[in-house]
Parts: sequence; C-alpha cells; structure tokens
Amino acid sequence: MGSIAEPRPLSHVCIIGGGPVGLISSLLFRRHGLQVTVLEKNPKREEVGAGIQLHPNALRVLQSVNLFPRILKTAITPPHLLLKSYKSGETLWDQDFIADTKRYGAPLIALQRTSLQACLYEEALAQGVVIRHGVEVKPGDVDLENGVLRLSGEVLQADLYVGADGGRSAVREALIGRGPPQPIPHGRVVMRILITEKEMLARPSLRHYAEDGNMVVWLGPDCQVVTYLLDGIFNVAFTWPWSKDKADVFVKPQPVDIDAFRKGLVGWHPDLLEMLSLTSGVLQWMMFEPTIDGEEVPWVDEGSKFVLAGDSAHQSLPYLGQGLAMGYESAALLAALVSKATAPTQVRDALAIYERKRKERTSLMIRATLRQGRFTQMADGPLQEARDRELRESAGFPTAGCPNMMSDPFFQRWMWGFDAEKEADEAWEEYKRGCERVPEGFVLVPRSRGV
Ligand SMILES: Cc1cc2nc3c(=O)[nH]c(=O)nc-3n(C[C@H](O)[C@H](O)[C@H](O)COP(=O)(O)OP(=O)(O)OC[C@H]3O[C@@H](n4cnc5c(N)ncnc54)[C@H](O)[C@@H]3O)c2cc1C
Repeated sequence: MGSIAEPRPLSHVCIIGGGPVGLISSLLFRRHGLQVTVLEKNPKREEVGAGIQLHPNALRVLQSVNLFPRILKTAITPPHLLLKSYKSGETLWDQDFIADTKRYGAPLIALQRTSLQACLYEEALAQGVVIRHGVEVKPGDVDLENGVLRLSGEVLQADLYVGADGGRSAVREALIGRGPPQPIPHGRVVMRILITEKEMLARPSLRHYAEDGNMVVWLGPDCQVVTYLLDGIFNVAFTWPWSKDKADVFVKPQPVDIDAFRKGLVGWHPDLLEMLSLTSGVLQWMMFEPTIDGEEVPWVDEGSKFVLAGDSAHQSLPYLGQGLAMGYESAALLAALVSKATAPTQVRDALAIYERKRKERTSLMIRATLRQGRFTQMADGPLQEARDRELRESAGFPTAGCPNMMSDPFFQRWMWGFDAEKEADEAWEEYKRGCERVPEGFVLVPRSRGV
C-alpha cells in the first residue's frame, strides 16, 4: 500500500463478473483502500452449483480478507483422501490430509458453492463494494483505445478493469481481438449427484462414508468418481467419457437418464450403485480442454487498463481441485502488485509482472492437472494394474514423483505453499532494484523498458 506522501495512480477498479474470483478481487482491492464496482450479468444474486474443494493456497487468500473463520463454519474438513478401486472398493492409497496440510497454515475443506458465494457477496457489500446486477459486458463495449467501458447509455470510467467473467469471457475476447473461442471437447462430462446426508446415514452400508467425512476418489475405467460430504449433503461427481465430436458439444447443463446410466455400470462396487439409487434428477456438464496461453495471448491490454483474472485467463480441469484456487491466487497477486504502484508506469509494470508470473504458474498447474486426470482415469489393463501396484507398494511413503501428485511432497509444497503477498513483495523489491528475477529459459523485461 502506498504511503500518504506518495500519489496513487489507482483509485477506482471496475471488475467485470461477480463470480467467486470477481468477488474475492473486490475484497482484495478494498483492502488496499480502492473504490470498487462489480458488474454482473445475472439480474439478481444467483447461487448455483454443488460442492467445491478449497485447498490451503486458496484458504490463505480467504485468510487475508478475514473470511476464513466464517467460511470454515459451513465447511467440512475431510481428514483423509482415499483412492479406491471402482470394482473391489479396495483402498489403494490413503493420504492423511490433516497431517499433510498442517505445515501450510490452513486445512483442505469442502463446502457448498452457494455458501462460499453468499459469504463473499455479503462481505463485499459490507466493505462498500458497489455490485451492479444485470450488466452484461459485450466485447464491443471494451474500448481499448480510450481505456473505458461503453455500456448502453453510459461510459464507465475506472483506472483499472478486471475481466473476471469466466471461461467465456467477453473481456478476453476483446483483448485477444479474435471472435469467441471455439471450445475443444475434452471427451468427458461431469455428472453431479447430490444425496442428503440423512439418506446416507440411513443406509447401513453407506453410513460410514458420511460419518468418516473422507474424500474418496474411485478410480474407474476411463473415468473417476469423487465423493465427499458437504454441509448436510453428500456430493457424488462422476467424470464420464463423452464424444469429442463437435456435433455433440453442449454448453448448458443437461439432464441425465439416470436409470440407463445405472444399468451400464456393470461390475461396479455395490456401494456406488446404492448411492446412485438414492437420486433421480442428475445434471451433466460438458468439459473442455484447458488452454495454456503463451506470450502471444495478452492478459493485459497495451494501455494497461484491462486485465484478466480467474477462468477468463486460465480455465483448467477439476482433477486437482485447483481451478478456483488459481483464480484466488491471481486476484491476490494482482491486487498486491498494482497497489504498490505509485506512478502510471509502475501500474503498467506491475501488470506485466502479474501476467508473466501467473502464466508461468498456472500453465504448470494445468499441465499437472492433466497428468493427475490421466492417472486417476486409466482404462482397465496392464497400465492400470501397474498403477495400482505402484500405489500399494508406495503407500505411506510418498516421495518425489509419487503417482498421486497431491501426496508428492515437492509438488505439494509448490501447490499449497504459494503465498501471493510474499510473491508480490519479492517481485516488487526485485523490480525496484531494476533486476527482476528471470526464470531460467525466459528472457523477459518489464514493458516500461520499451521492449
Ligand atoms: C466440475 C467442476 C468442478 C470444479 N471443482 C473445483 C474445486 O473443487 N476446487 C476449485 O478450486 N475449483 C474447481 N473448479 C473450478 C472453478 O469452478 C472455477 O475455476 C471458478 O468457478 C472460476 O471462477 P471465476 O469467477 O473466474 O468464473 P465463473 O465462476 O465462471 O464466474 C464468472 C462470473 O462472471 C459473470 N459473467 C460472465 N460473463 C459476463 C459478462 N459478459 N458481463 C458481466 N458478467 C459476466 C458470470 O455470470 C459469473 O457470475 C471446478 C470446475 C468444474 C467445471
């Protein structure tokens, strides 16, 4: 934060998108004393979705805006992650989440998206953030030349605009200057099944899944099932094969014929089949390949007025439970860096540092996510048998290269140990010294040096 003697080049930030990343960004900017407006296309506050995992690196950001205790009240802290065979139910891997997360100063939690969104929303209003509903920004509204947003009947002026408008971002489209992205099917859908905790507790064979509170990943053939308890609800998420044909693409969630689906699960563990018998209405979402942006795809415009954060910049897949965590980290680093700037050229450099640092980390995380997905979704056969053998043999002694990346001590430290404030302080100090740390293999210079 700039001192009183230093002029501040930023006073008003406009955030496009009132999703989880837009709202946390608003709180982070408020914390640095900036005025914040959020534009959200939905006409009213809308809370959708089922469960979400938040890992220590995401919770560190919630801690920084003092929301952690409130979030924790509605969350479950799964003590273990169990990797199980979809056929036999054998536990192939048991990770002690409580012990593993201790060193990161925050646990790994699961909660309903609606609770998270409600908490962020209420806090944003309490902190004086202006949230305007029913404002859908179109790519053509983004006036890059004049650094303003041209909404119908209004020119909205801010010192910085943050595009937190998700995977189909209008701000991204304007920045990149191409038409809407053509999503590439990932060949999977996610089916979300919600069962009440009461129903789970009433079934003798299912009771322990709710009572233990563990997170279970059932390793299936070309698929996986993740089950965990939320506040009163048991969440079952199937990642299931789907056509890659463009003709079979769908964007809005679709209903699933659950009876037909259930009948196709020949040889599956009876517990999973019983869970499926407890539900009737199931929706599925199509998943798309993540994109990893290089230098040629800008996240910041030439005038340093528009910047992307969250899924608009680095949409991923859910196999490591890190999508939103990456968005939170980005929001925290962005707010911390630009708040250090005391001149417009420094804002430009802060944004350049942000873009480079986030591209570096999120591209590695997306690659790791894809690897984890391949590991948990192997077709039955020799490779799957070798994987299961390796899991059994190394159980309890995870080392570097451990097949379950969440247990790999080195990867884990990199993933969960990230501290945006520290990263921003270090990067800014190096910048001020005029010798930004350049990662090996990269030759990059801040934009203000005329490169
Ligand atoms: C199946 C699945 C499971 C997942 N599980 C996890 C998990 O366990 N843990 C985790 O960390 N991540 C998880 N993720 C990822 C996580 O959901 C996303 O990373 C996160 O929602 C991104 O937040 P966001 O705010 O960037 O975008 P969004 O959540 O998409 O929010 C964007 C907001 O912007 C608004 N908007 C869009 N366009 C406009 C516009 N033009 N003008 C104005 N407003 C606009 C939208 O209405 C919305 O409110 C999962 C994702 C999937 C698909």
